[in-house]
Amino acid sequence: MNEIKIFSPATVANVSCGFDVMGFCLDSVGDEMVIRKTEKKGIHITHIEGFNLPYETDKNVSGVSALAMYNDLDLDFGFEIEIYKKIKPGSGIGSSAASAVGSVFGMNELLGRPYSKRQLTEFAIKGEALASKCEHADNLAPAMFGGFALVKSVSPLEILEIPSPKELYATIIHPQIEIKTSESRALLPKEVKLEDAITQWANFGSLIHGLHTNNYEIIGKSLKDVIVEPHRSKLIPYFDAVTKAAINAGALGSGISGSGPSIFSLSQGEETAINVKEAIEKTYSKAGIEYDMHVSKINTKGIKILN
Ligand code: ADP
Repeated sequence: MNEIKIFSPATVANVSCGFDVMGFCLDSVGDEMVIRKTEKKGIHITHIEGFNLPYETDKNVSGVSALAMYNDLDLDFGFEIEIYKKIKPGSGIGSSAASAVGSVFGMNELLGRPYSKRQLTEFAIKGEALASKCEHADNLAPAMFGGFALVKSVSPLEILEIPSPKELYATIIHPQIEIKTSESRALLPKEVKLEDAITQWANFGSLIHGLHTNNYEIIGKSLKDVIVEPHRSKLIPYFDAVTKAAINAGALGSGISGSGPSIFSLSQGEETAINVKEAIEKTYSKAGIEYDMHVSKINTKGIKILN
């Protein structure tokens, strides 16, 4: 096999109380990529469609992660990467992570899988660091493994796969405004009140419990972030109106996806997730801001081969 086409999924990082350690994988939105073996040595990005992104290997996250893996090997051939971008960069649903895992996953398949998914994620972290200026894996891990993934530690990399209840669906709204990750990082508090920390880890523990026991009510009650969301939500127009509309339409809970501006809601069942979408649309259509919406089952498989 000399060429492979893959689907690299979008992901929701943080999941409210799981700030910087948890993410889940989407099914209905993601990038496509083609990875090809070439006689020419090195990593070359030969085609990008959808959004304007750099072709230079060291400036594109997919190139940087691919190079990290390539330099770990001693090959007498190289790889070409084509990116068909569907996830808008900077939307907060893991656009850079999809590219970072895509290249290394595809190369690994073409090489007969010399690396484990955990090792591939380590290479992808190098690519993701180009976009976010720090090493983190809360979008990469769910894109690679699927479902809910808990990044217990980045160095050494420890990823725990958390089960996802079968009827869990996500509704995502992506308002077409730009929030720079640096701007949204700058809003984070340097210190946290002990009282808030206690609330946050109680919520996160119960979210993990709810996911393990298929308890939708507990999942809903746990989707609260008392540390980051109060600060970051100020950058997202109509955040409170969206989360209220979602809850009124039957959602279990909502929160900021990654560092925003996307907002996610989780629901039990597809029908409720669609009702939530319609309720949010009603709210946003009055806002005069362009937006995209997605309804997706939780993708339990993660990145996959298309051909
Ligand atoms: P997201 O959370 O949607 O991934 P980020 O702000 O983390 O958004 O990353 C987007 C940034 O990474 C943009 O500045 C973009 O130009 C840069 N970037 C470089 N290569 C890629 C790529 N292959 N895919 C997406 N973004 C990329």
